[in-house]
Amino acid sequence: MKRSMTLVAGLLAGVFAFSAYAAPQTVEGTGVGKHGDVTVAVTFDNNKITDIKVVREQENKVLAAKVFTDLKDAVIATNSADLDAISGATFSSKGFLDAVKDAAKKAGVTLSKADKKAIKKAAADLPKVSSYDVVVIGAGGAGFSAAIEAKNAGANVVLLEKMPAVGGNSLISGAEMNAARNWVQPKLGITDDSPELHAEDTYKGGDKKGDMNVIRVMTNNALDAAKWCRDYIGVRFIDDNLFWFGGHSRKRALIPVGHTGTEFITKFQTKADELGIPVITNMKAEELIKDKNGRVVGVKASMQGSTYTFNAKGGVVLATGGFGANPEMVKKYNPSIDERFKTTDAPGTTGEALYMAERAGAQLVNMQYIQTYPICDPISGVIELIADSRFDGAIMLNQEGKRFVEEMDRRDVLSQAILKQTGGYCWVLWNDKIGAISKTIEAHPTEYEAFTKQGIMATCDDLKCIADFTKIPYDSLTATVKRVSSMTGKGNDKDFHHRSGLVDMSQGKYYVIKAVPSVHHTMGGVRINGKAQALDKNGNPIPGLWAAGEVTGVTHGTNRLGGNAYTDIIVFGRIAGKGAAEAAK
Ligand SMILES: Cc1cc2nc3c(=O)[nH]c(=O)nc-3n(C[C@H](O)[C@H](O)[C@H](O)COP(=O)(O)OP(=O)(O)OC[C@H]3O[C@@H](n4cnc5c(N)ncnc54)[C@H](O)[C@@H]3O)c2cc1C
Repeated sequence: MKRSMTLVAGLLAGVFAFSAYAAPQTVEGTGVGKHGDVTVAVTFDNNKITDIKVVREQENKVLAAKVFTDLKDAVIATNSADLDAISGATFSSKGFLDAVKDAAKKAGVTLSKADKKAIKKAAADLPKVSSYDVVVIGAGGAGFSAAIEAKNAGANVVLLEKMPAVGGNSLISGAEMNAARNWVQPKLGITDDSPELHAEDTYKGGDKKGDMNVIRVMTNNALDAAKWCRDYIGVRFIDDNLFWFGGHSRKRALIPVGHTGTEFITKFQTKADELGIPVITNMKAEELIKDKNGRVVGVKASMQGSTYTFNAKGGVVLATGGFGANPEMVKKYNPSIDERFKTTDAPGTTGEALYMAERAGAQLVNMQYIQTYPICDPISGVIELIADSRFDGAIMLNQEGKRFVEEMDRRDVLSQAILKQTGGYCWVLWNDKIGAISKTIEAHPTEYEAFTKQGIMATCDDLKCIADFTKIPYDSLTATVKRVSSMTGKGNDKDFHHRSGLVDMSQGKYYVIKAVPSVHHTMGGVRINGKAQALDKNGNPIPGLWAAGEVTGVTHGTNRLGGNAYTDIIVFGRIAGKGAAEAAK
């Protein structure tokens, strides 16, 4: 199969509203998507939508693609904006549908209420049973890496994805990727890094709960994995800077162009297309099939109520990601992370495949270690990158206008401290002096627009305006800002010992944003060995089963260091794909 087989929902014609004849007209409408305004120009003829042109949008290209194709077609077909969101693109869908409603309102057109029964999903004409050498489950970074390597090792491979779009967390990720001795380090004067140092940082950063043998495989293969992404997959990296995440003794995280996983996932998809790897979306793996000898020989999966069997001669690679977007599962394994938390994660990050692996005999480890990210949008749960001004001096205030923690402390410490404050949230406040260093407003214009529109962020010339917006008592706010401004510079913060030093905040402009902690990364999962083989309860490889990426549980210990997940998924995805392909020979 030469072309990627991405299967999408089809829609039947809907019910149209009837009213008196009205001449054709085209009217613009606007809604708020995940990354700012979505503006559409809707053409109405005789009160019926005949065309929609997307005038302006800044949504995630991969996740929101179906909003501007399938959902748009559905709106026209049903003459309704009262439709279900595209799964995985809820905010983009809402922005688009709201924009259509806005246009209809301005045009004086009454749209139909959707006849949900008229909207049917079309399942593609797939065989109920098919056979491959290797079946890979989960189309994130680990799954794509496995599928591509399996194909290049001569295997006939299929990639199954339960969501309508590929990418998982890998797509929405910052996608910074650690590799010691990478090609950028010498340009920054870093010549003393090594895979062993990277391994030690990783082990210590995870409170020594990771498996050092597996960690060493990751760090020893990190540079080769990064080069493979750059030279074979075509991922572009920024060539004059790196990220230095907490817990690393050297600055070693490569930054993809655009600072997100879109750079990886679009290139992975192109490579899979080139190689003729079928990628079947909307196909959820439900059960691993074992033969009488206990070897995993296939997968039972479902699409829209029908069951499909994918036989796997060599084996199955589990690359289904974590469970950060499954609140029940998060609470089950770590009761302290309860319903107060939203998540930064992609909607498919729900972890049922871990139970599937467990039913097939796999050992799950470190499941209780769940990382929260402290500064996230209270409405959607996504990370507020705009508040990274925190690393340059922005302060965190509670509703009473007091600081309550050292703003540069560990993610888990900040999260717990925020939850103890009134309402379980905080305000992040900074001024132009801090903004001139961090430049987060300039770096994240769509966040700035969207958060301001959502009403969780404000820009003010003075503190009176900040107090009015946040409802923090003015006297308390000014007292805190005065005290902060009297303790500037490294070593002078008598209250919370800010490690890089407070900044003078006596002058505006001021920026403030409301923030809550969100579930970010699940460190636990299937125990694997250095060959990415899934292990059983006795530590023996389960024949025919490999696992890679966030679904596994021995790399990060209690706490994943920034930039290590991308290294993990590419290194072990590649190893798993090759291993399963070899087993098919
Ligand atoms: C906002 C954000 C920023 C991040 N930034 C960084 C960073 O800068 N650097 C870094 O190293 N890490 C970062 N991470 C973490 C990292 O991105 C993830 O841990 C990693 O991408 C996970 O990759 P994966 O391939 O294992 O899983 P995913 O990319 O999540 O892919 C798993 C796929 O499997 C699918 N799936 C699940 N169950 C089934 C099933 N039963 N059948 C079929 N398909 C299924 C899912 O829908 C999903 O598409 C970030 C994470 C987030 C959320």
